[in-house]
Amino acid sequence: MNDTFILKGNIIDSKDLNQLRIIPNGYLICKNGICKGAFEKIPKEYQDFDLIDYQDKLIIPGLVDLHLHASQYAYHGTGMDVELIPWLTQIAFPEEEKFESVDYAKCAYSIFVRDLVKSPTTRACIFATKHTPATLALMDELENSGLVTYVGKVEMDRFASEKLNSIGTVNEVNQIKLWINESLKRYQNTYPILTPRFIPSCTQELLEELKNIELEYKLKVQSHLSENLDEIKWVSELEPTSKFYGDAYEKYHLFGSINKTIMAHCIYSSIDEINLMKKNGVFIAHCPASNMNVKSGIAPISKYLKIGLHVGLGTDVSGGETLSLFTTMKQAIQVSKLYWRLVDQTISPITLENAFFMGTRGGGEFFGNVGAFQDGYAFDCLILEDSELETIINLDLRERLERIIYCSNSSDVIEHKYVQGKKIF
Ligand SMILES: [Zn+2]
Repeated sequence: MNDTFILKGNIIDSKDLNQLRIIPNGYLICKNGICKGAFEKIPKEYQDFDLIDYQDKLIIPGLVDLHLHASQYAYHGTGMDVELIPWLTQIAFPEEEKFESVDYAKCAYSIFVRDLVKSPTTRACIFATKHTPATLALMDELENSGLVTYVGKVEMDRFASEKLNSIGTVNEVNQIKLWINESLKRYQNTYPILTPRFIPSCTQELLEELKNIELEYKLKVQSHLSENLDEIKWVSELEPTSKFYGDAYEKYHLFGSINKTIMAHCIYSSIDEINLMKKNGVFIAHCPASNMNVKSGIAPISKYLKIGLHVGLGTDVSGGETLSLFTTMKQAIQVSKLYWRLVDQTISPITLENAFFMGTRGGGEFFGNVGAFQDGYAFDCLILEDSELETIINLDLRERLERIIYCSNSSDVIEHKYVQGKKIF
């Protein structure tokens, strides 16, 4: 079978949050698309498997992007001089309106998916727009790409333009159910995820409907939380009976009490909010690029990691400017150093090991057994060729990984990508 084989190369994955496991010239076993482990020598039971020798290249798990907006990719790298709320109204919403046209959506999404395939990402949790046909067009593209993704039709009925608020309101619940049922029927590797945009975009009536849909379908959920100080103040005015921002989701069963839930950002989460995330097993998507670009702040990530919260990384395109999770790892480390130096010296900076863990196992856990080369994990991996980062120094394997994270233009170093045991390039 073509999804049963052995890869040979320099294997690196995370042993745990603080340690890498490095196997020089090791063997990585794939049986029926599932990883059977990484070894220094080929175990007897696998000796008949075909072997592909990647020689001195690095083999790492595929990276997991827990938060990004496909519909915003068209303008990535522009519009970075404003804060969150004007950024949404002046840039994001006018662009999202265009996805009423399926032709426009198909063009925009084909560029996005092409570039996502070239990036280090093998799995992602993606926001589309409110439009059902355009969201299905994105899911069609993703299904054909070989990546594994969750995609959300973005639910919202206030605060945006008249046009965006009003789509489908006559029969919004039917629209949502139609989209969910169609997705569940049509795709193997592309899953619907319930996606209230954020509390300011959703009336209590809409949240009540989403609660009923969640109780019926028990989907995973994704949204935004405690990103910006103006936003948090606004939520307290819109939802005066909620004790804190996350409690406004919790009231509608949209905060991890029914199924796994991702909350992006969590920069200013209160102790009560943190405790509820811990209790409900909420996944935090840490998005350092967008938190810098729209001037939101720095999330105290090592505090969350110490408490034992689930934390993965998000590029948050296009608040974030790049699809490269290598760059996101670097930015996560860099902003944590500034936080420690300038804000709070009790919150230690995160390490390379921490950042690599978040980009692999941390986010991978949202998908199940994903993000490491353990027996029973999905066989997702990247083959990295770093000879273009030339140096006369003899670097060890950790240093080579560190340089790829800090210095590479990621699509140049990725020679091959495997998802679920299938080589997608
Ligand atoms: Zn976002």
